[in-house]
Amino acid sequence: MENRWSDADAKSAIQRHAEQGIGEDLALRVYTTQLIGGDKRLVLHGGGNTSVKTTLRDTFGDDRSVICVKGSGWDMAHIEAPGLPAMHLAPLRRLRDLEALSDEDMVNAQRTNLLDSRSPNPSVETLLHAFLPHKFIDHSHAVALLSLTDQPDGLDMCREVYGDRVAFIPYIPPGFALAKQAAEIYEKTPQVEGLVLIKHGLFSLGETARIAYDRMIDLVSLAEAHIARGRKRVFVSATPADFATPVEAVAPIIRGALSILDADGAHKRWVLDFRTGPKVRAFVDGKDIERYAQSGVATPDHVIRTKGKPLLIRAAGGGSLDSFAETVRQAVSRYVEAYHAYFTANNARQATPKIELDPMPRVVLVPGLGLFAAGKSANEAAVVGDIAECLIETVTGAEAIGRFESISESDLFDMEYWSLEQAKLGKGKEPPLARQVTLVTGGGGAIGGAVARVFAQAGSAVAVCDLDGAAAKAVADDIGGAALAVTCDVTDPVSIRSTFDAACRRFGGVDIVVSNAGAAWPGAMADMTDELFRKSFEINFFSHHTVAQNAVRIMRAQGTGGALLFNVSKQAVSPGKDFGAYGCPKAALLFLSRQYALEHGADGIRVNAVNADRIRSGLLNGDMIATRSKARGLSEDDYMSGNLLGREVMAEDVAQAFLHQALALKTTGDVTTVDGGNIAAVLR
Ligand SMILES: [Zn+2]
Repeated sequence: MENRWSDADAKSAIQRHAEQGIGEDLALRVYTTQLIGGDKRLVLHGGGNTSVKTTLRDTFGDDRSVICVKGSGWDMAHIEAPGLPAMHLAPLRRLRDLEALSDEDMVNAQRTNLLDSRSPNPSVETLLHAFLPHKFIDHSHAVALLSLTDQPDGLDMCREVYGDRVAFIPYIPPGFALAKQAAEIYEKTPQVEGLVLIKHGLFSLGETARIAYDRMIDLVSLAEAHIARGRKRVFVSATPADFATPVEAVAPIIRGALSILDADGAHKRWVLDFRTGPKVRAFVDGKDIERYAQSGVATPDHVIRTKGKPLLIRAAGGGSLDSFAETVRQAVSRYVEAYHAYFTANNARQATPKIELDPMPRVVLVPGLGLFAAGKSANEAAVVGDIAECLIETVTGAEAIGRFESISESDLFDMEYWSLEQAKLGKGKEPPLARQVTLVTGGGGAIGGAVARVFAQAGSAVAVCDLDGAAAKAVADDIGGAALAVTCDVTDPVSIRSTFDAACRRFGGVDIVVSNAGAAWPGAMADMTDELFRKSFEINFFSHHTVAQNAVRIMRAQGTGGALLFNVSKQAVSPGKDFGAYGCPKAALLFLSRQYALEHGADGIRVNAVNADRIRSGLLNGDMIATRSKARGLSEDDYMSGNLLGREVMAEDVAQAFLHQALALKTTGDVTTVDGGNIAAVLR
């Protein structure tokens, strides 16, 4: 494991913090915390924590001894000084005299000793840091260390590798009892460089940031070297052949089976993140997968992200999709039953009964293919995917030198249902389109781009599709991790199919389709070439039909309904002079939307349309606005706001109308007018 300490970087961290009035201790604490957080083999997504004991000046100008510990909700990779809240050290240390301390009282003691009341909750491992004497303490959940300790004889293996360089702490759930016991064990051998917490992780100790960091890297490197020496061919493969059904066909079926139907008829779906590669395949294809994949988590706090066990789907690829779907449904229902049983059995021994969490797996393993991670958003699914890959690394290492074994089921339950762990996930209300995937065509343009942004803001993952790939990418980049850019020619059925495939591979499926791409060519009907008229029908009518067919195909595979939304434009109801090439297919499109509404209500697919007019876009660009306003003797502003309300209609307004339709669970066959008021185009 590479030691990434750099004197120059450390110096510049000190300088950068000095400019903000922050001292050297905290500056270096931020620096090495980021170094550790930046390596996925050490910690993942909010896991691990660090601390420094230093002095800070309080409101009275007095220097006070404090401990700064990573705050909950901060990721070590991106931590800054406010992510390391300071607490008065002496009263925290005094807590050690107590026999017992409830979780609530522990959190309260930590909060009441904060110097800044606005700070996040300090880590649940704060007291462990406070009870040890070292100035700098680093804590990781390093993969190699976990491979060593997640064993039936993990303690012996660690002893063999580390000798007396570290002290060993048996598995105890994080909290006051662990902090007390760790301090007691440490004090028997105060010369150690670190503490190995069996089946949990590693603490490295030092008087300087450099020493604690060096020790972390050295100790993890020893574990890596040990595993490398022992490496045999780990997994004997039981599935030599690739799974013959492609990911894009498998994903919507899995996604549908994991969805939970609410009492009010809403589907609680999951966004999927597919992972594969040589390491993942060796793991999922292994003959003993039932044993090693079902034996628990790599480190306890992963349970809140991945549940204790993944779902394993044993199926032959290449068969009919219907029979595969049946296999998946049965596997999910067995998983859910087992989860209920696990909850009931473990809840029985709780002093205060717990409320059962949703029983759905977060990781789905398909031998011959790879793994699907599930989350409420694309970002959450990616976090679950990273943790699943970390488990695979850990198990691969553990099986190379012995046999993977996690904490017991009851310890796992206590961690999963520990209020302080659940607090990490946040209790905030989900955004309205959480768990959904939207595909928008013409997504690089004004209206499509606004739809993509508004839907992403509402919590949806978004596939931004456009003939102009660079324009799609610009919108997707602007949105960030929850967006995928796809180059798509909607007049080519093959291109549409591959666009839907790409969305299914990336997010697991599609729930909302905004069929928006279009193009207009002006000209009087009598003089129009047949070629142009047919070309306009290709893009403004037939393409929408092909998009709709693909949407229905995916939505039926998921079995969770969906929304099919069309941009029909004002031309669908009120013709514009010399705009027949655009209006005729749009009028047919309005009918098409009603036809789909009629035929797919029973599938739970809602089909609606937005009738918008006079929006600045590729269809109504600056030149056209200039020409038309001039022809009518109006200023450009007056032309654009020439409607009953006298207000220009923006692409954002159209996007909001589509959002409303996406959320209206009991509306289908509707047309929403967004034109500022135009009596000639009022629907009747
Ligand atoms: Zn930990």
